[in-house]
Amino acid sequence: MIQLVFATNNAHKLEEVRAVVGDKFHIRTLAEIGCTDDIPETGDTFEANASQKSDYLFTRYGCDCFADDSGLEVVALGNEPGVYSARYSGTRDMEKNIALLLKRLGDRPDRTARFRTVISLRIGNEEHFFEGVVEGKIGYKCEGDGGFGYDPLFTPVGYQKTFAQMKSIEKNAISHRALAVAKLADFLKANY
Ligand code: IMP
Repeated sequence: MIQLVFATNNAHKLEEVRAVVGDKFHIRTLAEIGCTDDIPETGDTFEANASQKSDYLFTRYGCDCFADDSGLEVVALGNEPGVYSARYSGTRDMEKNIALLLKRLGDRPDRTARFRTVISLRIGNEEHFFEGVVEGKIGYKCEGDGGFGYDPLFTPVGYQKTFAQMKSIEKNAISHRALAVAKLADFLKANY
């Protein structure tokens, strides 16, 4: 069976990936390979960060692997917070990150935004990228208490509710991460 390490400590992401990729691939955790390192992500694009993480694992642990990087891009803010989504305000406190985003956006009418995920798959000396994007808009205030991160601000195109107002099964059917993971799964099933 093909083994791949997923460069995450997030149990929710792991479950989501295992469910989509299926039984043919054994998705291993960082814990399973004894990696407790704080894997660096110092790039200024999602691609660079995903690639840096998969390269780190491949080089130091010698394992085929994949890594993801995601974030929110708000068009009127020059695609901020982008790769800085998790620490936009300088902390991981999402209340502060959301407050800063709303302050910078003010009452600008252009609320266009997208969530983006990039996955870097490293198998041997080959690297492949998979991208998932979901377009939407930023509200004027938080709505809903599900999900995480910027979900209470983000309404995807074609919907009248935020990601935080959706059931997780509904969000996971259309999310940027789900789209990128589906592309990864299709590639693995077609090629291995
Ligand atoms: P990560 O690379 O998947 O860990 O995402 C980095 C940051 O982007 C998170 O800490 C969140 O602030 C934001 N983010 C990524 N995906 C989502 C999402 O699905 N909903 C809300 N925020 C997200």
